[in-house]
Amino acid sequence: MKIAILPGDGIGPEIIAQAVKVLEVLRREGLPVELEYAPIGGAGYDASGDPLPDATLNLAQQSDAVLLGAVGGYQYDALPRSLRPEQGLLRIRKGLNLFANLRPAQLYPELANASPLRLEVVSGLDIMILRELTGDIYFGQPRGIRTLDNGERQGFDTMVYSESEIARVAHVGFQIAMKRAGENGVGKVCSVDKANVLDTSMLWREIVTEVAKEYPAVELSHMYVDNAAMQLVRAPKQFDVILTGNIFGDILSDEASMLTGSIGMLPSASLDANNKGLYEPCHGSAPDIARKNIANPLATILSLAMMMRYTFARVDIAQRIESSVRKTLQRGLRTADIAEAGMEKIGTDAMGDAVVAALLN
Ligand code: NAD
Repeated sequence: MKIAILPGDGIGPEIIAQAVKVLEVLRREGLPVELEYAPIGGAGYDASGDPLPDATLNLAQQSDAVLLGAVGGYQYDALPRSLRPEQGLLRIRKGLNLFANLRPAQLYPELANASPLRLEVVSGLDIMILRELTGDIYFGQPRGIRTLDNGERQGFDTMVYSESEIARVAHVGFQIAMKRAGENGVGKVCSVDKANVLDTSMLWREIVTEVAKEYPAVELSHMYVDNAAMQLVRAPKQFDVILTGNIFGDILSDEASMLTGSIGMLPSASLDANNKGLYEPCHGSAPDIARKNIANPLATILSLAMMMRYTFARVDIAQRIESSVRKTLQRGLRTADIAEAGMEKIGTDAMGDAVVAALLN
């Protein structure tokens, strides 16, 4: 298990250090883990004038999986766009051909009060948003701003998906639903599109329906994106896996992430065709709390659990890490972002140590 560790900026190094503690425990127990560090984002720019140094991309390409902290910081805000930390992230996703972005939204009973929704709407929530990441209107050509004959300017973008792009992400969706069915006893994919208006979506629906025939154990449904946005807050527990394109997924995954209410708890994975993946927390580099030892490392530790499940097919280890996180929450341990009034708060390091202690129990 060759894992590239890219701590990045801000709280990145602090939260990554906690996930590495978990990896070190697993290594001592005999898991064949090999770690190598490289800079990305602002740290890449500081080290070699590039937010994605060649050596970092090479390391990521040669590794089985990448664990990333976060990128970005005030000191880089004035740089030209091509040198900004976020470019490192966009380029590594492209360089690794990561087309499937997975964001689970799961509510921990101990943190139920953090959700902006009523408890009965979200308790027991466990959904997975699968967003296509490399196609759609964000990358379609032609695009631009042109001047019309009457002198008025007009902006335009192109929504485009080819059959193969739709099919490969649909396969990922059905396979994830099967994995989740194995663990939870359910297997449902809801494909979200706008097939009543968009031709791209009509093709999307047709191809997803075709791919579904290869997965008879998984139940497929379709939903228009406007309805999906509404259902996500009305009755989110009806969903298991939501499969959707890049722009709809961008919006719905942020909506879904808020169902749980705590940004410090949300992991993510971005996968290529061979289940190689980049794993990172959904939050940013939180420069406002960097180097204060107060950031929540759980999203990063849960991203590591996703790595074990999706890249290394070690569901046993994934579940063990996840259950260690749950036990830690059950013990009442909280970083500042998830602590309720009157609760004792612990720091980043102590939270990492607590998860390790739970892992060893
Ligand atoms: P952010 O997610 O970094 O922070 C938003 C708020 O949430 C802040 O108040 C922060 O303190 C808090 N927060 C975030 N993660 C936390 C954690 N683990 N524990 C406790 N509190 C946490 O978003 P932002 O402030 O909009 O952006 C800051 C920088 O991060 C910017 O440079 C931005 O470009 C970058 N960014 C990077 C990524 C990424 O690396 N994937 C994603 C989003 C933003």
